[in-house]
Amino acid sequence: MRFATRAVHAGQKPDEATGSIMPPIYQTSTYRQPPAGSATTYEYGRAANPTRTMLEKNLASLEDAAYGIAFASGMSATDAILRALRPGDHIVASDDMYGGNYRYLKLVLAPMGVQVTFTDLTSTDAVTQALRSATKVVWMESPTNPLIQIVDIQAIAECAHSVGAAVVVDNTFASPYLQQPLSLGADLVLHSTTKYLGGHSDLVGGFVCTNSEEWTEHLRFQVKCVGAIPGPMDCFLVLRGAKSLHVRMERHCSNAQAVAAYLADHPKIAQVNYPGLKSDPGHDLAKKQMTDFGGMLAAVLRTSSSAQTRDILHSLNVFTFAESLGGVESLIGHPATMSHGALTAEERANLGISDNLVRLSIGIEDAEDLLEDLEQALSRI
Ligand SMILES: *Cc1c(COP(=O)(O)O)cnc(C)c1O
Repeated sequence: MRFATRAVHAGQKPDEATGSIMPPIYQTSTYRQPPAGSATTYEYGRAANPTRTMLEKNLASLEDAAYGIAFASGMSATDAILRALRPGDHIVASDDMYGGNYRYLKLVLAPMGVQVTFTDLTSTDAVTQALRSATKVVWMESPTNPLIQIVDIQAIAECAHSVGAAVVVDNTFASPYLQQPLSLGADLVLHSTTKYLGGHSDLVGGFVCTNSEEWTEHLRFQVKCVGAIPGPMDCFLVLRGAKSLHVRMERHCSNAQAVAAYLADHPKIAQVNYPGLKSDPGHDLAKKQMTDFGGMLAAVLRTSSSAQTRDILHSLNVFTFAESLGGVESLIGHPATMSHGALTAEERANLGISDNLVRLSIGIEDAEDLLEDLEQALSRI
């Protein structure tokens, strides 16, 4: 079946007992032991839950993956994958990545003795130089956060595999509707379901899928042993969100294209990073590996300070000045004082994160209202 049909139906069918069309929320911690001779499916809620199983099947289907494992958050999904590393192992990651993953690598993984190299994953030369015989994982995002750069997933996966490293792609920004990294050579695909998959900014969740039995065994063991599981209600909410992913993404993309075109022409805007713009360095690559350009963009305002940038963001009425992304509502953030606020000014400058950089998560509102809101705010500069 095709994507939109799988989004609505995969992993679920009307409940056998009642005919309920929506998946039941199995709010239980334990299950009766099955009679002798019958297969054991559920025993205890940490290891598995039927609502969670439906979610895992649904999302795995959207990524065309053999296996899917749901987690309590995107970060706990990251943690579960990286618990496979041991002291002395090495990981290569992007220098332009989600702040929480950057913090995890620097402050959780590195102190445990794993060597971490951050580099520019938009350059295969930089990646080749960073790889070592001890490299066990290459971790990438595309589009990246917060600069919305496009990484050549296939090319980097080939480099990584040449030294036997596993390839993890954080596909949160693209969603499975726009990009399917397993088909480009990734070994593991991670999502913060908090974002586009949930889609309504009403839950926190994570997900990993893979075609590897070995990785699935590792991840299932982490779920059972460490227990970073999503509750049944949150699983239900992600399932409900996933049903409309394809419809929402189309509007996210068309609105983002309209906002990017508007900002690119605006005298108070110095730069727009959006792969849907023909002038964008990631345009051709995005066209190759994505089906559309996504709902995320970055822009550099012609403001004179961090404080003035924040004032402009506070003056928006349709956009909300807030962390996060991927919901139906438009959000705007200021990486220099939010996601990357813990870095030194020099570190931020090296990464290209200026005080005037803003990151926009374009929602599914009317595009004209978004443009008018930006117009009234930018006129204050
Ligand atoms: C939000 C996010 C995460 C972390 O997910 P949580 O659900 O907040 O724990 C990881 N990667 C990306 C790209 C994200 O946007």
